[in-house]
Parts: sequence; structure tokens; C-alpha cells
Amino acid sequence: MKKALTIPTEPIGSIPRPPELIDAIAKRGGNDPSLEPLFDDAIRDTIDRFEATGSPVISDGEQRKYHNFWTYSVQGLANTAADGFKIPFVAGHTRRMLRLTGGPFHYKNYADSYLDLALRYAHVPVKQAVISPSALSLMYPPDGIPDYPRDQFIDDLLSEHETEVRACLRKGAHKVQIDFTEGRLASKIDSSGVLLQSFIDLNNLALARFSAAELQRIGVHTCPGGDLDSTHSADVDYAELLPQLFGLMAGNFYIALAGERDRVRVLKIIREHMRADQRIFVGVVAPIDKRVETAEQVKDRVLEAAQYIPLEQLGTTDDCGFSPFCDDTSTTRETAFAKIRARVQGTALAAKILGGH
Ligand SMILES: [Zn+2]
Repeated sequence: MKKALTIPTEPIGSIPRPPELIDAIAKRGGNDPSLEPLFDDAIRDTIDRFEATGSPVISDGEQRKYHNFWTYSVQGLANTAADGFKIPFVAGHTRRMLRLTGGPFHYKNYADSYLDLALRYAHVPVKQAVISPSALSLMYPPDGIPDYPRDQFIDDLLSEHETEVRACLRKGAHKVQIDFTEGRLASKIDSSGVLLQSFIDLNNLALARFSAAELQRIGVHTCPGGDLDSTHSADVDYAELLPQLFGLMAGNFYIALAGERDRVRVLKIIREHMRADQRIFVGVVAPIDKRVETAEQVKDRVLEAAQYIPLEQLGTTDDCGFSPFCDDTSTTRETAFAKIRARVQGTALAAKILGGH
């Protein structure tokens, strides 16, 4: 009998936090030890419900990234100030990064500590998302820091990132996903592509430290941002991003696609620029769209993608996390898990058809 075809499917990462956890963080701050039981309950419940969707790979829902996916590693550092780089969202609000005020630069929190907890509760493989060096590079102020030149900062940053990724790989992360939401934003800020290329070059300096086998477990996520049901760079044409994006040395790409206006056009760009050793996980559900996709809709999206991406290089994912910023309650946990269930079931339906069963 022919072996059944499987199309890999993975989440991006974040799941909305339980309202009682969000309230407690708002009242007590994210580092109060009295929050520990709430974090623990949230992680356990997230993993239980994630596994119940049938998703063959899960995450901890980033329950412990108590500010957001971008600054979790530096939150609480004494040598930072609150007035850093601003991310403007189309809905009108902004999110703000921390600014580095002095050297040396070190992480305060490493994502492998989240993985430790998740692996304690999970029965299926767990992936871990980490923030990209290029996102954190925006912490360094444009006018410099006395006695701590930018080159020294970049060396320290790359070393901290490598430490974090290596620890996740060593502890058994199914994949380590580097969140690169600022890639598409870079194309919006600088349409010449110079800023984007500088981000890609920086991230490749980090990726170059890993072996070919390790790179097959490392991926990069690109999206137009997702916060309070809004985006920061959905108006940027993928034609300005993807050709350069595939210059990253990672073995896996997690590309938001479900929310795109013209998916076929994007798939053609992917087909033209993807490389032979890269797996492309296309987004088949859209976290910022309130409507829950059906398994049938997902199946159709996978069949569409399979016309452009060879099956041995195709995977599916969510377009983005369901709440990259921890206080975002625009999507409920119920909706997030319903969308994930549709992704898993629709991907399996498509695999059945494509595998000839
Ligand atoms: Zn995203």
C-alpha cells in the first residue's frame, strides 16, 4: 500500500491569554511572583486545548511572553528606557519598543525557559518562537551610546540570539521560529529595499553560525503584523519582500497568505524565488479575520498552494500569532482554537486528495 501523504502543519505561536491573567498582569505587572500559578494554569490549559485541536505540533501559546513577542527577552533590563522604536498600526495605534541606554547588552529572559515548561506538559512536539536579531537591533539609538559602539552591540546581540536558539534546539524544540515581522515593515519604511537587506544581512550573520542540519530546524516568520485586528504593513507588495526574504539561510519559511488579496499572485512570486532546500509553510487561516474558516476553505487553499509549491516543500500554518501582544483581547481563545482546528483538518483533507487516497 502507498504511504499516506502528510503535509506538515505548524502554528505560529501566540494564543490569547486568559482574561484573568491579563487582568492580573495589568494590576501587578508581569514579574510579580504571585502570578506564577496563573501563568502555570494558562500554559497547562493552552497546551491541553492545543492538543485537542489535533495539531501535530503545538506551542505554549506564548503565555509567558507577558509583554509581547518582540521585547520578551529584554523586558525588565535596567539599561533600557520606554521611548524606543515605534510600530505604527493602520488602526491608528502604535506599539513601542524599549531603547537601550547603555552597554553591555544582554537578554534578561531566554525563550528556552518557556520551552522547559511547555515540554513538561506537552504530549506532542513543541515549537518555540524567538525574536529576530534585526528586530532587537532597533533598540540601539540612532545617535549612538557613549563607550558602547554599535558594532559591539551587534556582536553582543548576535551572541545572545545564538545562545537562545541553541538552547531551544538542544532542549528539543521541534522548530525554532525567528519572528521577522519587521521585514515587511522595513519595505514600507524604506521602499528602496536597503533597510530590508540590512535586516536580512544581520539575520544571516546569526544563521551562518548554525550547521545545515540545524538550519533545517530553524524557520523565519513573515507577516504584515497582527495586533488589535490591525496590521502595520499589509499594503506592502510581497514582490518587494519575498525575493530578498528567500536570501535568508533558514530552512523553513512561515508566510502569511490567507489574508492576502491576491493569493495566486503571491504563490507565483514564491514559486519563482524559493530555493530547493527551503520548506514553505503558507498561512491558511487569518487570525485578524473574525470569521472562523471551515476545513473545506482551508482544503481549497492548500490545493491552490500545491499548484505552485512542490509537495515535498509545502506546509501550512496560521497567518500570524493570535495575540502577539499579551493584552490584545480582540480574538478569543475559543476562536483561536477553532481556527487552528480548521487548519489541521483542512490540511489533512488536502493531503488525502493530493496523495490520491
Ligand atoms: Zn506574525
